[in-house]
Amino acid sequence: MRWKEQILDLTPYQPGKSIDAVRREYGLEKIVKLASNENPFGCSKKVIETIKEFSTSLAIYPDGYATDLRNAMADFLKMKPTQLIFGNGSDNLIQMISRALLKPGYNTVMSAHTFSQYSHNAIIEGAEIREVPDIDGAHDLEGMLEAIDEKTSIVWVCSPNNPTGKYISGDDLISFLDRVPKETLVVLDEAYKEYVVAEDYFDALELVEKYENLITLRTFSKIYGLASLRVGYGISNEKVIRALEPVREPFNVNALAQKAVIAAISDQEFIEECRQKNREGLEQYYQFCREHNLSYYPSQGNFVLINFRVDADEVFQYLLERGYIVRSGKALGFPTSIRVTVGSREENAGVIEQMKAFLSRS
Ligand SMILES: *Cc1c(COP(=O)(O)O)cnc(C)c1O
Repeated sequence: MRWKEQILDLTPYQPGKSIDAVRREYGLEKIVKLASNENPFGCSKKVIETIKEFSTSLAIYPDGYATDLRNAMADFLKMKPTQLIFGNGSDNLIQMISRALLKPGYNTVMSAHTFSQYSHNAIIEGAEIREVPDIDGAHDLEGMLEAIDEKTSIVWVCSPNNPTGKYISGDDLISFLDRVPKETLVVLDEAYKEYVVAEDYFDALELVEKYENLITLRTFSKIYGLASLRVGYGISNEKVIRALEPVREPFNVNALAQKAVIAAISDQEFIEECRQKNREGLEQYYQFCREHNLSYYPSQGNFVLINFRVDADEVFQYLLERGYIVRSGKALGFPTSIRVTVGSREENAGVIEQMKAFLSRS
């Protein structure tokens, strides 16, 4: 058969280990998953209530345009409904954007250590990938500008960046956007936006009004705690949205998810509380790192990358066998680091205790 050659040795996405898999493998009772940056506090009670009351004919297709959700979101953001596009997770939007813009003979620019789906989708579309080495976990925006040429269709900017947690300041982003050619789409991935507390962070919605070649992606999978429902969205100007809409699958956001997300945005108190607890959780890890002289990147997300200065898989395995699933930095470009999601206070204390035990093993 005539498979695209480039997909034949492309490996499928490797998710963090699941709780069930670890339970089966190690016969452990209590397992804590701190591997996929999910919200340890679940989701808003309003979402749970909405889901309990959910009743619709399962035989009927969902609203493909997600009209109610679109209007609720437009109200919330104070944007026009036509400036929004919804995805089955923001992964789905990354795929749509890649499909719409990438092809052989063209290239896409990204940081060397960032979210893996940008390069994954570029490979599938047969575009050249230009990875620009980061500077201490942060995007090298100047280097990325240099890598852009007349064949660059997309430049990916992830802020806060997964897996480092580093963010881009408003001034740096504006200076970058001022110089990206108008023919290149800038995709700003803000999956962790709601966790940001840095005062010099940018307002992507303002920037979207100013830069015609900018789209920002957000998700309900992280702070909103709805990863299993799969909803992400893009915000841009109407021209970009109109160009992308035909690429979207007709019914890509299911009916239950559409209802649940409307409830989720109505409870910003829950989001505020999670943001606050996340900062406290990060402090637990920072303190541990300082006490043990380990380096880490200060994070604006709900995860932290800690350098143990040994083979990351060793730390990963040690923690796994003790019931804590974290992410080895090996596949993320940080071979001696562990990426750990900030959990509840108790979960953080628990995994830190095991990290301490790892450091003092003989
Ligand atoms: C988790 C994550 C996503 C994907 O989120 P979904 O909406 O669940 O598909 C996208 N980008 C980054 C940087 C992420 O960390």
